[in-house]
Amino acid sequence: MNSPIAQVRAQAAADLAAVREQWGDLLAAIGEPPRREGWMPYERRGFLDQLAAGDVDQDVEPTLGRVPLILREHPAPADLRALDAALSVEADVFEMCDAVAERVQLPTCDPRGTWSIGAPDDPRLWRLPTHRDAGPGALASTGSRMYGLHWACVWLEGRALDDDPDDRALFARTPVPLVDQLADVARTARRRVEAALGRESRTIVLDEPCPFCKAGRITVHNGGGDPRQAVATCSTGPTCTAPVDTEQGRRAWRGPALVGLLAALEEGRTAPAA
Ligand SMILES: [Zn+2]
Repeated sequence: MNSPIAQVRAQAAADLAAVREQWGDLLAAIGEPPRREGWMPYERRGFLDQLAAGDVDQDVEPTLGRVPLILREHPAPADLRALDAALSVEADVFEMCDAVAERVQLPTCDPRGTWSIGAPDDPRLWRLPTHRDAGPGALASTGSRMYGLHWACVWLEGRALDDDPDDRALFARTPVPLVDQLADVARTARRRVEAALGRESRTIVLDEPCPFCKAGRITVHNGGGDPRQAVATCSTGPTCTAPVDTEQGRRAWRGPALVGLLAALEEGRTAPAA
């Protein structure tokens, strides 16, 4: 079960899951100016929403991800890097779905005896876009693309893992070279989404001293996209007066405490200069 191809399949599914889980954040980022604050583990509003639910406005809804970008207007993209990443990820994932569907979806026969690729109404199948006779520019239907990137990722995860016995009625096994190709697309898509959101894993030392002991340096590890792993520590040690526990001899902020640290830092920044 631990053959290299099984690992490739599992990694591809994990990358696709990471893409769809962060998709709403990426779409929200398109409408906001790029953040300047490089150290917060997440795009700031999303981060605060997550950690201090209830304390801040919650107008970033995951339903934003529903309508595909290709079908949506962007009246005022504020973050062109996010828009660029979203458009290219969407195009790559949709094209991969088309390519996989063409290879593995089995033909079925409807009650009138007409053979087609997949039962027309089966929601588990990926529908390819169709074109009018006028040429490739004239899109007659967007097929499954109209359900957006989230659904596309879910569908592709299923074809990457290819481990549900019920699928055998609908899909041929995904051939190994296609799994490799799919894994490439998934890895690249995840990297692009996380780079556009500033979620690459990194550790930095803040310019400002610790707002509690006024002496220590604050080191932040952003958690690499997982807010539960984000942690900030003060170099002073246990004598630092910050109201948080110590880890390995240093005051450490995690989870909601990070919001407290942010507030204390902002307070220090906006205090009138002496
Ligand atoms: Zn301190």
